[in-house]
Amino acid sequence: MENKKIALVTGGNKGIGLEIVRGLLRAGCRVYLGAREAAKGQQAAADLAPEGEVQFLELDLASQASLAAAAAQLQREEGHLDILLNNAGINAAGDGLPSTAAVRSVEEALQTNFLGTLAVTQAFLPLVRLAAAGRIVNVSSPLGSLTLSSQNDWGLLGYSASKAALNMLTIQLAHELRDTAIKVNSAAPGYTATDLNGFAGTDTPAQGAAEAIRLALLPADGPTGTTSSATGPLPW
Ligand code: NAP
Repeated sequence: MENKKIALVTGGNKGIGLEIVRGLLRAGCRVYLGAREAAKGQQAAADLAPEGEVQFLELDLASQASLAAAAAQLQREEGHLDILLNNAGINAAGDGLPSTAAVRSVEEALQTNFLGTLAVTQAFLPLVRLAAAGRIVNVSSPLGSLTLSSQNDWGLLGYSASKAALNMLTIQLAHELRDTAIKVNSAAPGYTATDLNGFAGTDTPAQGAAEAIRLALLPADGPTGTTSSATGPLPW
């Protein structure tokens, strides 16, 4: 009797996403490693194969056709999705302070981090609804917190706005699904050494992945409609 949880991690080929895939494999899930470039995705899946059942799934947040094909493949192969882990994201070059951020860069951040994640969520939600107790985790950021942004000089308007919008998706989707067993939460990694910041971050990717993994595996009495980091709840 096959009872492994089925998980999909977007942007799973490197950085925090790769470590989320590893963590979910170690937790016994069968994991679809989403990546927009086949060569990178296949390589990452091959590297992680010793850890468990992992397979590459081509998935580009910017392509509706790619999302539809990926969802159709998952429907065919598994028939449902237990864990949707929305990890893929960018820090667009040219982003910055409100007075100088390139409007194009702000648009790029919103396009990928918010609208792209919304499109993924809409494409896979029908499969999550078919799971016994679905979990949706949006990888956000402390920079997406309006409260923390009012207390810090982060100066990355597009990135912060995109993660604040992503948090709004978490809140509204959790509310929409409140009468189901599905839980929707935002995970906020700390400053993590990845390509996103030229490896300037101070946490390891494994540390950056920890809260998303925890939220993906929440028990039935866990929260929904929250944002948290590895050290606990964050303010919106
Ligand atoms: P990363 O190493 O640059 O990884 C980003 C991942 O997203 C890559 O797999 C990338 O694919 C993928 N991606 C970007 N655009 C995509 C698209 N249109 N379609 C599909 N995949 C796409 O950065 P990371 O730090 O691990 O970031 C992972 C998540 O953590 C992001 O949402 C980020 O905002 C968030 N986060 C990071 C930090 C930090 O300090 N690093 C802190 C808080 C939150 P390619 O390899 O093809 O580019």
